[in-house]
Amino acid sequence: MCESVAKNIKMSKTIRLILGDQLNSNHSWYKTVDDTVVYVLMEIRTETDYASHHIQKVVGFFSAMQAFYSELKANNHQVIYIYLNDENNLQSFDKNMQNLISEHNFTHFEYQLPDEYRVDSDLKKLCKAISISSSVVDSEHFFTTRAELGDFFEGKKTFLLESFYRMLRKKHSVLMDGDKPLNGKWNYDSENRKKLPKNHKATPPLVFNNDVSEILNEIKKTDIKTIGTIDGKNFLWPINRKQSLELLDFFLAECLHLFGSYQDAMSPNEWSLYHARISFSMNIKMISPQEVIEKATQEWEKRPSEIEFNQLEGFVRQIIGWREYMRGIYWLKMPDYATLNFFNNQEKLPDWFWTGKTKMNCLKDAINQSLNYAYAHHIQRLMITGNFALLAGIHPDEIDAWYLGIYIDAIEWVEITNTRGMSQFADGGIAGTKPYVSSASYIDKMSHYCGSCYYRKEVKTGEKACPFNSLYWNFYDRNEDKLSNNPRIGMMYNVWRKMKPEAKTALLEQADYYLKNINEL
Ligand SMILES: Cc1cc2nc3c(=O)[nH]c(=O)nc-3n(C[C@H](O)[C@H](O)[C@H](O)COP(=O)(O)OP(=O)(O)OC[C@H]3O[C@@H](n4cnc5c(N)ncnc54)[C@H](O)[C@@H]3O)c2cc1C
Ligand code: SF4
Repeated sequence: MCESVAKNIKMSKTIRLILGDQLNSNHSWYKTVDDTVVYVLMEIRTETDYASHHIQKVVGFFSAMQAFYSELKANNHQVIYIYLNDENNLQSFDKNMQNLISEHNFTHFEYQLPDEYRVDSDLKKLCKAISISSSVVDSEHFFTTRAELGDFFEGKKTFLLESFYRMLRKKHSVLMDGDKPLNGKWNYDSENRKKLPKNHKATPPLVFNNDVSEILNEIKKTDIKTIGTIDGKNFLWPINRKQSLELLDFFLAECLHLFGSYQDAMSPNEWSLYHARISFSMNIKMISPQEVIEKATQEWEKRPSEIEFNQLEGFVRQIIGWREYMRGIYWLKMPDYATLNFFNNQEKLPDWFWTGKTKMNCLKDAINQSLNYAYAHHIQRLMITGNFALLAGIHPDEIDAWYLGIYIDAIEWVEITNTRGMSQFADGGIAGTKPYVSSASYIDKMSHYCGSCYYRKEVKTGEKACPFNSLYWNFYDRNEDKLSNNPRIGMMYNVWRKMKPEAKTALLEQADYYLKNINEL
């Protein structure tokens, strides 16, 4: 700690904890510089070790925290930064905080509402354990409060995204014309599901060249278990607000006009297509959902002939819709949500989820890019890796651990609701109305993966049959008691029941063979 901070702390009274995902420089905490307030940020093992994180995720968090530390200091705030390998680092929020309180005689402890249940519980316990007063303030980031979704759906059996989304658009006057949706329609999903044309070359993504070697070296001195690869001299993710805004501007200028059209499209070696890649920046609060939506709307207003309204609505829906909705479900349903396993799936994740070494082209591409970039876009997460894991009956705990580790934007509130909920239907239909599963035909319809695959998309049984085809029917067959009454999928059971018995047997035998040899696929 620098001398001037140590001297000032003698007269300081309040210690404010800033979590690694609370790097919101527009928070009202920082509006005034107060000599009686000291901020603290800490790089600790409880955070690096609760999952096997991608190396880019750990580096991304620490880099952004260090940049935020510099920014606060430059603005004359008093800040303590506890580095990973500092001698006095006791490696958890509570131990470090207790230590600081007793060392510097703070009289008040303050923190912002955490996004994760785990950290929320830990900090509540800490408040009880310390002898000084404490208080908690809002993180001033989301459109909604933690309880808003629960209040909105009170007394209802289902939680429809669409109605929550419409309520929020009205409440916050987003794309509204008085009480009506701007341009007359709420939902443009049907215009937004195109395959990428065969020879279409997507705009190359903007990447940064941050030198993060020092942080990487510090991590290497420890036994922190990480996954994936990193180029420490050219770290591609934004690590401060300036870069986050640059990335957002790039997206608005180069990608928004095709975002909706190709949001469900997939193509080999095209790792981000027209997606924004702002989830990391938003989830750690370097930029806010409000400013993202405002800027996107302004861009559309500036270029109405180039950016069709459906592209904008599709993007806004993800942010004020899905993102807030998932957060609401999380706070309504945790902690039980983390234990749900509707299908009672018990299998282990195949080894190749950690290496990308599979002959299935779609999975190979989605997993390898996840290992290389700590990123896959939504439809790869949902309809490639998630789809396979659900068809194969993998235990949701295994799947959650993978998604929580591998993506740079993975923080439990938005990871678990998407994974256990939307993707795995382990919540029995809280976050989604039906399981997202498909055979090869959907993957082929939306991607260019199948043409160069070892397996054959049109073959269901026998040599080189695409595994998705038989696993798909095996999934429906083994879960018939749980799914056949679902109105959105009853039709699939009609097809299954009408199939010839020998065709059904062949499909189930093929699936059985693949499941028994899952590591060889
Ligand atoms: C199995 C699975 C796991 C996921 N895990 C995470 C996760 O750990 N962290 C995370 O932020 N998102 C997660 N998502 C949601 C979504 O895939 C990512 O937000 C998105 O891919 C991030 O990339 P982007 O910024 O390029 O998004 P874009 O496609 O450009 O979308 C713009 C923004 O909309 C928001 N958004 C889009 N879809 C969702 C959604 N379903 N839920 C919440 N916000 C959404 C994100 O903030 C995103 O940055 C997951 C989805 C699935 C199916
Ligand atoms: S054939 Fe099957 S495994 Fe291969 S890319 Fe297509 S869907 Fe994936």
